[in-house]
Parts: sequence; structure tokens; C-alpha cells
Amino acid sequence: MSTNLQNLLELNQPALAAFFAQVGEKPSSVKMRAKQTLKWLHQSQVTDFSAMTDIAKGTRETLAAHAEIRDLTVIRDSTASDGTRKWLFDVGSSAVDAVFIPEEGRGTLCISSQAGCALDCAFCSTGKQGFNRNLSTAEIIGQLRYADLTLKADLGIVGRTLDGVQPVTNVVMMGMGEPLANFEAVVPALELMLDDNAYGLSRRRVTVSTSGLVPQIDELAKRSPVALAVSLHAPTDALRDVLVPINKRYPISELLASCNRYLEFAPRDFITFEYVMLDGVNDQMEHAEALIKIARQVPCKLNLIPFNPFPNSEFKKSPREQILAFQRRLSDAGIVTTIRKTRGDDIDAACGQLAGQIKDRTRRTIAIHAARMANTLGEDA
Ligand code: SAH
Ligand code: SF4
Repeated sequence: MSTNLQNLLELNQPALAAFFAQVGEKPSSVKMRAKQTLKWLHQSQVTDFSAMTDIAKGTRETLAAHAEIRDLTVIRDSTASDGTRKWLFDVGSSAVDAVFIPEEGRGTLCISSQAGCALDCAFCSTGKQGFNRNLSTAEIIGQLRYADLTLKADLGIVGRTLDGVQPVTNVVMMGMGEPLANFEAVVPALELMLDDNAYGLSRRRVTVSTSGLVPQIDELAKRSPVALAVSLHAPTDALRDVLVPINKRYPISELLASCNRYLEFAPRDFITFEYVMLDGVNDQMEHAEALIKIARQVPCKLNLIPFNPFPNSEFKKSPREQILAFQRRLSDAGIVTTIRKTRGDDIDAACGQLAGQIKDRTRRTIAIHAARMANTLGEDA
């Protein structure tokens, strides 16, 4: 298809209404057309305009002349023995992934916002890979569209209705990339997740995870406040400067202040702080004591993530006893602290045919995605 065609998956409701106006639809009906089209795209997940049967034939012909529905291409689809499922998508020069974790009563999809990441956190394989490019809104929402459609097909469910059984009940932006560094593409994708004419998820069931871009946290509060997870990983600026280098620009005190500002708009009354447990680096009792002081400054829950090692990484996973002792200390201080469960561990076996580089990254990222999803959500999520 020609690249002049507008990919409709790129557009949230206002943008879709503007598109209809631009192609000559009457002003009085652009809003209705936008809603109808969203339903076809994100609830019935059609791939062809001819299937949009409640839209007049002439309008469908106009759509076909000016627009397209361009989905992501899947490179690999793997399922672990525990039901965790991962799709690897081709985004041109690179690949990104989405991971689905089914649990009793909910299904969480972890999606990517960038190919690679520029922020270079010391313990992160995505960061080590460097920045490739931002994903578009279509590529971000496309991960949800693809997963939703595929999982529904497996269950024999046709179409998405807001009151019916749905495989994806929660979305977390904890895959590859820093979502708030791709703000202008991420926000319309969030809006589509929330829109009742599209995926209709509540704000508390959509989580953005950030390494701590303070101005964008403030902006997100204004534009689309969803649940927020913050990758803290260290209780002092000296250590966080090393582990999460963006801390040099936005130190812990500024980050905590932005979390408190965010909570005025947030759909939940706490921030989730993520803390990767690195042996001998940030997992000692002195770190727990410092972390308690920080956690008392913001209504929060803490999620401890056992480090997932990768080739040439300079860190080791904290021993289990250390993680448990760390958790106990925080819990004793009254801070709700969870430890991630491991899911989808065996998927790397299914990735055997992939090229080595992708295989390695795949194995690492599934563990990371699974880690992030397992415990970051509130009990009522
Ligand atoms: N960029 C955002 C969201 C995605 S990053 C952020 O930093 O919050 C994915 C998350 O995976 C990071 O927060 C980090 O907690 C986690 N992570 C990265 N590398 C990891 C590793 N090797 N082991 C365990 N968790 C890791
Ligand atoms: Fe980027 Fe997040 Fe990895 Fe840091 S942890 S390098 S912000 S993806």
C-alpha cells in the first residue's frame, strides 16, 4: 500500500474525527463516524474497510482511497508452559515485544514504547542495546490490537464488548523503552486503551512505568493520568546516579515531589516503586533503611524485582534470603512490599530458531516483562 495513506491505527478519537472532516465528511457526523470506526478497528478488529457494515458504502470507499489499516508484523509467537505468551514484532530495523500473562481473574499485557532505549540504566539489557527509534501510536496500540484479537480467536470470542469476557484486562507499559520519552505517541495510545469505543480499560488498569522523567510525569498528570510505576532502584542519589543515569538530571527529591503532585490526579492513591535487587549493590540493610525514609515521603507500594542476568552484565542477582530479609525489613516498617514471581521462564526454548542476538534478547525481555507485571498491580487491578 502507498505510504500516503493514513494508517487509521495511528488515530485516537479526536484525530479520527479530524480525519473524517478532512476527507469531506459532514461536520455533524464526524464524531459519530469516528466512534463507529474505532469500534470496528479496536473492538471487532477488522482488517478491511468492506467489513465496516454500518458505515455507508460511499464513506467506506472514501476510507479506502485515503486510509489503510496497517498492522504490525509478527516475527515470533511463543507460549510458556505456564501460559505466558510473547509476541516479537518486526518494526523495520529492529524488533520489539509484547508479553501476555494470564492469571486468575485477569490478563495483563506488557507492551513496548520504543525500539531500544537511550537512558542506559546500568542493569538493563534494553539500555545496553542503545536507542533505535520511537514507536508510533499505531505500533504501540497495535500490540494490544494484535494480542486482543489473537487471544480472543483462541477463546472463540468474536468482537470485544465492554461487559463481556475479555482476555486482556490490564495493560502495563513496562516493555522495551521509556514510555515518557516517547510522550506524544504514547498519550494517544493510552487514550485508545481507555476509550469506551476502543478498549474501554479503566485508568487504574493501565500502568505507565518510568525511570523518572519529571516534566513528563507532570504532563501525564494533565493529559492522561493512569496508574504510575516508578523505577527507583536506589535509595540515594549517589547510587541512583550510577544505576539510573537520568537521576543526574532529575534527582530523587525532585522525583518524589513529582510523584506527590501526580497522586492528586492519579486513579490510584499510591505510586508503585520498582526496585531491582542487585547483589551487594543496593540490597543491603543500610539500603533498606534509606529506602524506608524515601517510601515514607510518598504514598507507595514497593515491588522488589530479582535481577535478571544477561551476558556481559556486571551485576548478580541478590540471593533469595537477602531479598526476603530486605522485604521483611520494609514490611516491618509498614511499607507494602512484594517480590515478583517468575513467569514464562521456559519460553526461550521456543525461541530456538531465532538468530542468536534476538534469542538472547527475547529470553531476557520475557523474564523482565514477566517480572514487572507479576506484582506491580494493585490487588484490585
Ligand atoms: N523504561 C521504563 C519502563 C520499561 S523498563 C522504566 O525504566 O521504568 C523495564 C523495567 O525492567 C525497568 O524498570 C527495570 O526495573 C526492569 N529491568 C530492566 N532490566 C532488568 C533486569 N536485567 N532485571 C530485572 N529487571 C530489569
Ligand atoms: Fe530504558 Fe527503562 Fe531500561 Fe532504563 S530500565 S534503560 S529507562 S528501558
